[in-house]
Amino acid sequence: GEPSNQWREYQGAPTGTDLECEGWRQEAALRMLNNNLDPEVAEKPEELVVYGGTGRAARSWDAYDAILEELRTLPDDETLLVQSGKPVGRFETHERAPRVLIANSNLVGRWDDWEHFHELEAEGKIMYGQMTAGSWAYIGTQGIIQGTFETLAELARQHFEGDLSGKIVATAGLGGMGGAQPLAVTMNGGVCIAAEVDEERIDRRIETGYCMEKVDDVDEAIERAEEAAEAGEAYSVGVHVNAAELHERFLERGFVPDVVTDQTSAHDALEGYYPAGYTVEEADELRESDPETYREESLETMERHVDGILELQDRGAVAFEYGNNIRGQVEDHREERPWPVSGSEPDERQPFDFPGFVPAYIRPQFCRGKGPFRWVALSGDPADIHRTDEAVLELFPEKDHLRRWIELAQDEIQFQGLPSRVCWLGYSTEGDEELTERARFALRINELVAEGEISAPVVVTRDHLDAGSVASPNRETEAMKDGTDAVADWPILNALLNCAAGADIVSVHDGGGVGIGNALHANNHVVLDGSDLAAEKARRVFTTDPGMGVIRHADAGYEEALSEARESNVEVPMATE
Ligand code: NAD
Repeated sequence: GEPSNQWREYQGAPTGTDLECEGWRQEAALRMLNNNLDPEVAEKPEELVVYGGTGRAARSWDAYDAILEELRTLPDDETLLVQSGKPVGRFETHERAPRVLIANSNLVGRWDDWEHFHELEAEGKIMYGQMTAGSWAYIGTQGIIQGTFETLAELARQHFEGDLSGKIVATAGLGGMGGAQPLAVTMNGGVCIAAEVDEERIDRRIETGYCMEKVDDVDEAIERAEEAAEAGEAYSVGVHVNAAELHERFLERGFVPDVVTDQTSAHDALEGYYPAGYTVEEADELRESDPETYREESLETMERHVDGILELQDRGAVAFEYGNNIRGQVEDHREERPWPVSGSEPDERQPFDFPGFVPAYIRPQFCRGKGPFRWVALSGDPADIHRTDEAVLELFPEKDHLRRWIELAQDEIQFQGLPSRVCWLGYSTEGDEELTERARFALRINELVAEGEISAPVVVTRDHLDAGSVASPNRETEAMKDGTDAVADWPILNALLNCAAGADIVSVHDGGGVGIGNALHANNHVVLDGSDLAAEKARRVFTTDPGMGVIRHADAGYEEALSEARESNVEVPMATE
């Protein structure tokens, strides 16, 4: 027979109002799966890889075909089961139940590591689902830009009275995700200096409007950045230099940026991070000829890099790690070699003396059930998303920050695949005693679909990185107040509750973002087709789902979560205050 992983000429999701399936809920699943594999959306659609290393939408092309076949014939009262990207069963349930249930990459605790996973993967028995790849909810780079924008906005609220104008953010790494940093800084009104060793990456960010200028010289970058900051202008510059050397030059000059962070691929010392003292070509050759030396040099550069961040922090910069595990890498390496290598005197500083981005900037939002809520127009018509943009601003006129994001997104973000939008909304029932922010907005979209102002149903979904849906001790649940970083009951309860509340697709995955064995997480989709049933589902799901964020953080003792629970009447049976 045919090889199961043959290349497909791939066109993306069907659009318009003609259905291939028996109802919009099944059709939505089919379109979202296909949208994940749209060549504009996916990194390597021919291998079914959507993003994030090997995050796949289906296990094989045969499994993909079989999923589509099942969805096309699935009635309104049956539920399809997908196990690591393969359809494995179908049962009669009922109309209010999910149409598709998905579990990806999960292993039992003692076996839950890459080694065992890779053995099973090689035999075609499991698939890496990442977060939104295997759950059919990826929307391209808009998600990462918005996450970076929100993180910087929260940083600005905490340290700079809500605004980055006149402030200089120094970072490194202009790759797939890191490339969003300069744009997210300028969207917040600030100035960005970003070190990148690979000149082509800087050029690509300039071509696509993510970064404004390129220079080779750190001093020149500092001068331009200071000029822009003094004038209060938004500005970004990519510097063709290694991150460790950027910081060392800053320190020699006595220059201290307002904020320092990093998004080089430090999580992988061999294939992600570049050692100082080599051009990209020389380093690529070294990696081939002598991987052991490469790895060692790479880790030594990371030590200099982290040492620089810590010294800048001591001199007054706000420092945070952006989820690339550079602190963990340096901590592990210190056991092999004394540290720091760049300073003359070893000192008391530790890599974990600067915080990760979740405890520092995201957790206060998680406490209020806020997270990356997103929606997709199944019509394929951008006008439908523009109508939802208006609707969200009409509903929440007091949210200046939301208005800024939506206006900037309209100007600067090109749709990839099915038109979509992302914004952070939470649990708050302020302004409407009965309904959460998320529920109010979803119900409004449902009305617009019913009235024909939006031309076809809209799917509402979210990232797995959300308030009450993930356990990930190196990232989303780093340094929880009560030490429950690794407790994974919460994402399981989240998935179960999403089913009980009637979401249309529910998924549970292992290993998203930080790798197999390091995280469990869940997500949901609700299809807003304008019906009363959709309204009922939306009201329940968009109350219970952000509500999980509030109770999870209230249980851990966070004051913001306890006050959200009080203000919005969330029942927390044994709350201790
Ligand atoms: P990528 O591999 O596409 O890009 C990394 C870039 O860093 C490359 O362009 C590379 O040339 C550059 N680089 C490597 N070493 C360097 C050095 N020493 N100095 C200067 N430049 C260097 O990766 P990506 O998708 O952009 O992700 C970057 C990192 O951020 C990853 O570790 C990823 O896991 C992490 N990340 C975390 C989150 C999160 O937690 N929310 C989000 C995005 C990315």
